[in-house]
Amino acid sequence: MKSTGIVRRIDNLGRITLPIELRKNLDMDCGDALEIYTEGNSVVLRKHESGCVFCGSTRKVTLYKDKAICENCRRELSL
Ligand SMILES: [Zn+2]
Repeated sequence: MKSTGIVRRIDNLGRITLPIELRKNLDMDCGDALEIYTEGNSVVLRKHESGCVFCGSTRKVTLYKDKAICENCRRELSL
């Protein structure tokens, strides 16, 4: 995990704003879904990708280097 050095305060509704530079760098836009994880005392936000990054399938999807890939595409790549 890499520190951005950015500090933001949580507002009275529990919200924070992601800095524009961060959203641009990570290709995040209004309406994109984020998954929320915890690691010890940390909160981790990850861009939600619902299906295989290659074909969009949601069947038998696993993560490889933080990217979703389905069994069929994984098999094709290993040929
Ligand atoms: Zn696929």
